[in-house]
Order: sequence, then C-alpha cells, then structure tokens
Amino acid sequence: MHTPKIAFIGAGNMARAIIGGLLAEGFDRTQISASGPRQETLDKVAAEFSIPVSIDNLATAAAADVVILGVKPQVLKEVALALKPALGHKPLLISIAAGITTQSLAQWLGEDQAIVRCMPNTPSQLRAGASGLFANARVSDGQKSIANSILGAVGIVQWVKDEAQLNPVTAVSGSGPAYFFLVMEAMIEAGVKLGLERECATELTLQTAMGAAMLAKSSDLEVAELRRRVTSPKGTTEQAILSFERDDIRGIVERAMGACSQRAQELS
Ligand code: NAD
Repeated sequence: MHTPKIAFIGAGNMARAIIGGLLAEGFDRTQISASGPRQETLDKVAAEFSIPVSIDNLATAAAADVVILGVKPQVLKEVALALKPALGHKPLLISIAAGITTQSLAQWLGEDQAIVRCMPNTPSQLRAGASGLFANARVSDGQKSIANSILGAVGIVQWVKDEAQLNPVTAVSGSGPAYFFLVMEAMIEAGVKLGLERECATELTLQTAMGAAMLAKSSDLEVAELRRRVTSPKGTTEQAILSFERDDIRGIVERAMGACSQRAQELS
C-alpha cells in the first residue's frame, strides 16, 4: 500500500491507538513518525511500533503529507503556533482535539491551511471506534480520502457537512461510551441486588451489551424492531420495557445528550 508520510504531533493515548490501527491496516511504518516533549513516552512509542520518534515537532512535521495534532485542547494553540514554520509545504492537518474549531486553527496557521477536524472516541483503542469528521473548504477530495483511511483504521467514520454537527457527534459517539458504561454499572448493581454474585452479574452484563451491539450491527432490522422481537406480550422483557418507558427513558437520554451537545458548543 502507498502510505502518505504521516506525522503525529503528540504521542498520547489517542495518537497511539491510531498508529496501532494504521500498522494493523498495512500502512508502511517507515512513513509514520511521532513527536512529543517527553523522551520516556517517545521511547515507549518507538519500542511498541518501531517508528521514528523525535522531541522536535517541527522536524517531524516538516516533510509530512499529513500532520496529526494529538495534543490536549489546552496546549493546541501554543503547539500550532510553534508548528507554523514547518507547515509551509501545506500538508493536510488533522486535529483530534475536542472543541477547537477549524476556524481557530486556520487563524493560527493561515486561512489556506487544509484542516480536517475529528471527534474520535475511546473504543478506537480496540479499532472499534466511531469518528465524526469535518473538512474545511481547503481540503481536496484526495486529502479527504486519506483522512478517511487514517481514521477508518481505528473504526467507522462519518463525515458531517456543517462543523457545528460535531457537537451532536460528541453527544452521540464522543461521549457515548460513558453512557453505556453507566447503564452497565446500573445493570450490574441491580443484578447484585436481585441476588447474583457480582462477578456473575458483571460477566452477564458485559457479554449482553456486546452481544446486543453485535446483533444490532449485523442485522438489517432497525434497533426498535430488534427490541420488539425480544419483547413478547405479557412476557418478562415487556415488564422491564414498560417500567423504562414509564420513567421516561427517551426523555432522560434526550436531555442528557442535549446537555452534552450544548457543553461541546460552549467549549468551541
Ligand atoms: P494524552 O494526554 O494521552 O496525549 C497528549 C500527548 O500530547 C501527550 O503524550 C503529551 O506528552 C503530548 N504533548 C503535550 N505537549 C506537547 C507539545 N508541546 N508537543 C507535542 N506533544 C505534546 O491525551 P489523549 O487522550 O491522547 O487526547 C488527545 C486528544 O484527543 C485530545 O485533544 C482530546 O480532546 C482528543 N480525544 C478525544 C476522545 C474522545 O473520547 N472523544 C478521546 C481521546 C482523545
């Protein structure tokens, strides 16, 4: 496979997940490099992935076709401004930082900078991620396809046309894993209260969550129909569903996701 030259600025958890995904996908490791401020972290990255590493962000970005900003949002402005002299060849820039708009990045780096903003999520570590992507007007179709294959290496990719849609993307997939963890926590506690050993309740809950997601992913049916099919009239599941509906499960989810999306908007 022809691999574009990809530079990771910041080699933290999310960057390492993407590097792992790229290598598993067959990207050429000699074309991938990473930089960061801590030699100890870089040594670990070099040992794990056998890729070149450096404490020099500018040298790392200088020859790259794609520069991936994997630093925390709080330091992004400082990192981006310092990086500007190394971006004269106008590589594609991909930012995974939550809440920093392409407009802010373009202000710091130049209005002609091609930028893809990405909202990934943590299951990317297992290549089961879900990323929302937005491209500014400077991104070519070829660059879009490169961004698609890079984020596609750690999961599924959905493009949004309007950058503001990354707020609801945050509410669905960015923060979504935490909602499912919360539901799993509650199910484990309830299972224990109903008389199960904790380990038994935990194993059954986790496998059920995974099985339900796999079933929903592999089926042509909508999730509402899958739910109806396991809810026989006057049966056990129906009692649980009726209780959830009486307690306004849909309203609870809508309000929670609304609050999340609102917060994402405030932060950007
Ligand atoms: P992390 O702290 O693991 O990684 C950040 C890395 O940046 C660290 O290795 C740090 O050493 C490095 N760094 C700090 N200053 C630097 C500098 N000046 N130059 C180069 N590198 C520098 O964080 P993470 O969890 O990998 O998150 C990275 C980004 O991804 C964040 O911006 C976050 O918003 C986004 N993210 C989103 C989600 C999600 O669930 N939606 C999940 C993870 C990450």
